[in-house]
Amino acid sequence: MKSTYSLDDAIRKIPDFPKPGILFYDITGILVNPPAFKYCIDRMVEMYKNEHVDAIAAIESRGFIFAAPFAERMGIPLILIRKKGKLPGKTWACSYALEYGKAEIEVHQADVTPGMRVLVMDDLIATGGTLNAAKNVLEQGQAQVIGFFGVVGLPFLNYDAVLKDVPVRTLIEYFGE
Ligand code: AMP
Repeated sequence: MKSTYSLDDAIRKIPDFPKPGILFYDITGILVNPPAFKYCIDRMVEMYKNEHVDAIAAIESRGFIFAAPFAERMGIPLILIRKKGKLPGKTWACSYALEYGKAEIEVHQADVTPGMRVLVMDDLIATGGTLNAAKNVLEQGQAQVIGFFGVVGLPFLNYDAVLKDVPVRTLIEYFGE
């Protein structure tokens, strides 16, 4: 176990993964570095502890890893947003465009209460398309999305334009590939 860390050093940068031209920011280096992982959860709690957050919704699958300790520390429900076909109950769904092709995500209807104030998170925000689709499924249940959080942000991909009107926070940002 390392006794010191830099969040930047803990995030491995893998060129040409999963395809040529993409620089992949790999958060598994945070997970094997307990002080770095603790730093992330501490900072998330610090950012939101004085806000009215009724629940956190997290995107499959890396979003779950950060959202679970945060939910436990905050004493709030954790809502799972999963790829199509994974949730057994009745769901709300949203299709959205990927760079190539499209994807669909779902949330359990029973997990969403009308009026609940939900923070939505993922490990990394790139174009913002995934978080925007998550907002759509939560709003089908009349929830209010009060914030977006990503451990890593890539603002040069203009997620601000897609996630407009809802505050976006990140722990570290990268500005080019
Ligand atoms: P987006 O919907 O474009 O904001 O993409 C966000 C989702 O894709 C997240 O679940 C990320 O884990 C993943 N992702 C997109 N681009 C990258 C990247 N350069 N490195 C690591 N993960 C990425």
